[in-house]
Amino acid sequence: MKFGGGAVANGEKIRTVANLIKRFKEEGGEREKEERKEIVVVTSALSTVTDTLLENANRVAKEGKVEKAKEFVEELRKKHELAASEAIDNIHVLKEVKREAKERLAEMEKALTGICLLGELTSRSLDYIGSFGERLAAPILAGTMQSIGIEAVHLTGGDAGIITNEEYGNAQLIWGVEREIRERITPLLGDKIPVVSGFTGETKKGAITTLGRGGSDYTATIIGMAIDANEIWLWKETEGIMSADPKMIKNARKIPYISYMEAMELSYFGASVLHPRAIEPVMKKKIPIRVKNLFNPEDAGTLIGEELEKTKKAAKAITLIQNTSIINIAGTGVRSISDVAARIFSVLAAKDVDIIMISQGSSERTISIVIDSAQLERAIGALQSIDSGGTVIRDYTSNSNVCAMGVVGAGMAGTPGVAGKVFSALGKKGISVIMISQGSSEFNISFVVKKEDAHKAAQAIHDVFEMGT
Ligand code: ASP
Ligand code: MG
Repeated sequence: MKFGGGAVANGEKIRTVANLIKRFKEEGGEREKEERKEIVVVTSALSTVTDTLLENANRVAKEGKVEKAKEFVEELRKKHELAASEAIDNIHVLKEVKREAKERLAEMEKALTGICLLGELTSRSLDYIGSFGERLAAPILAGTMQSIGIEAVHLTGGDAGIITNEEYGNAQLIWGVEREIRERITPLLGDKIPVVSGFTGETKKGAITTLGRGGSDYTATIIGMAIDANEIWLWKETEGIMSADPKMIKNARKIPYISYMEAMELSYFGASVLHPRAIEPVMKKKIPIRVKNLFNPEDAGTLIGEELEKTKKAAKAITLIQNTSIINIAGTGVRSISDVAARIFSVLAAKDVDIIMISQGSSERTISIVIDSAQLERAIGALQSIDSGGTVIRDYTSNSNVCAMGVVGAGMAGTPGVAGKVFSALGKKGISVIMISQGSSEFNISFVVKKEDAHKAAQAIHDVFEMGT
């Protein structure tokens, strides 16, 4: 079971989570021991903590004010002590949890002070600082569980065997780590419940790494895979995976079942329900994932599984990525379009620009790419660095007033007319489409519209595929 930042936002919520775990743990209590549930818990940082950690690490490195670093550590101490005091009744447990928090915060203060004095923030120190949210949360949740009579032990990602490479900020598991995780977790199961800090890992040399923003989902599926879990439950403050963002589309509806492939398309395409890599670990073993609703724990939530469901509905969900920019690059006639593309993509890759969509108009020698607007400056810088006497790029333009959208559904594969339906729905609303691309899996049609058209476009597509019913 994984609990996100919203689920453990404060002491009261942490208490609710602990009681929920207790209830599921004890459900099989009267029965034979083998029938009882064994649970591993993965927790995120208290909501917003990771953001503030990363912001403050950057700020402190830039401004170099040691008092500011101290102030921030103090703020964090207060926040976590308050949560612990609200959640934990047993005074002995509380004392121990506070002691641990203090110890961890002292380590953090040391690191922040160092960053401050050096005025330099490496990706390795940024991961170290960023990991504290989860490393502070797990002891509090485990303590809360202890204080209501569950034997809980907390572990960092590294303790749990999440051993990664040194790609800080987006670390990858090293080969064969599955066994390590199994050997560390399974002996703890039985009467105890391990509470693992999500998002964090460790290199072989013991440096702390993180798995990318939202990475606690990924921690949960990695562990679930390694220990052959029956199911992985991701507890969120939402009904499950939705047909569209309910904040935007009023009749958005919970999707009861969705395949791994579709869920992957959705998470790559901006639906913030799942970490994009969270599905990968479970695919081979076909372990079902459930997105469960904290406000309605009995509900089945959304089940994510192997099977590609055959429903009449060709498209299940519409997602959109806010704050995107499109760059149109025109090549010169001097080089082949492949050569131009190769150069463009290699400079963008070198500058770590993530490309959301690509399309190519070969006759005009243009390549259009869509990226996160936060990376626009970097991307432009990278393009300007291609300097081969003007033989590669003739011209480029960019536009940040756009929104990338994706229609997802396994039913689209091999079904004629789906694209027609998408684009005629947009046409009827007078929305013009700036760019189109379709993955060869055919589980996804993506396109770009003007920002101000995004809402109308999402509603039109939601309606035409009857996603709300
Ligand atoms: N706390 C981390 C983040 O905010 C990981 C997570 O929440 O899953 O990105
Ligand atoms: Mg979070």
